[in-house]
Amino acid sequence: MRPIWMEGHDVKKLIAGNWKMNGSVAANRALLDALKSGGAGSGCDVAVCVPAVYLSQVQSLLADSPITWAAQDLSAQEVGAYTGEVSGAMLKELGCRWVLVGHSERRQYHAESDALVAAKAQRALAHGLTPIVCVGETLAERDADQTMAVVKRQLAAVIHAVGHCVSELVVAYEPVWAIGTGRTASPEQAQAVHAVLRAQLAAACGSSRVPRILYGGSMNAANAADLLAQPDVDGGLVGGASLKAADFLAIVGAADRSIP
Ligand code: PEP
Repeated sequence: MRPIWMEGHDVKKLIAGNWKMNGSVAANRALLDALKSGGAGSGCDVAVCVPAVYLSQVQSLLADSPITWAAQDLSAQEVGAYTGEVSGAMLKELGCRWVLVGHSERRQYHAESDALVAAKAQRALAHGLTPIVCVGETLAERDADQTMAVVKRQLAAVIHAVGHCVSELVVAYEPVWAIGTGRTASPEQAQAVHAVLRAQLAAACGSSRVPRILYGGSMNAANAADLLAQPDVDGGLVGGASLKAADFLAIVGAADRSIP
């Protein structure tokens, strides 16, 4: 039986494909045509997180599909002289349902701090976008037994900033050492972290619904079912395998079949 603080969390799984800086007009069309023919989105929730320049194309290609779309980042600012930035209002206008914030590649290569990630999550919510807040430890942090402290610190910054809107988030646990490396957290390692995040979210949510927590890090067709079978794994954030229709459809199929 589930502990009382888990009751009421949204158990419909979400599989989100993070295309990162990949794609072309032709490749996007081929990939989305294959996902639509494969029935993606008819069971679990399915989203694609696409480069901002392709959002308009994806909006028109997915107009008649249950597949939703997301941006990979947004500005913490509202509007104005911020060259190169994309605002929450712009993403909303292009039909985005979700937006990634705090992906480890943004934290690492763009020096995004916990405070900036929290500000971005807040800005996303203000525009009616669901932030998919990424947290995760490096290998050095895991080896130093700091995993729980790191992910709790990263999530606490967002919880503090968004206040009563915590239940409107999605959280993705993405161990940095498992992203794009082919090295996946074991289902037990993922579950242990997800349980800690779930308790932290539940404490912040009070009587509101507890957000979904996705696992990300080299999820693929072969390991998805075992990861998604964990009681606190509510879906996946999928990088490399989301670029191949057959692989992504296999992961979506595993989520469709998984029992909450
Ligand atoms: C990601 O980019 O969020 C990710 C999990 O990548 P990969 O699946 O390639 O490890």
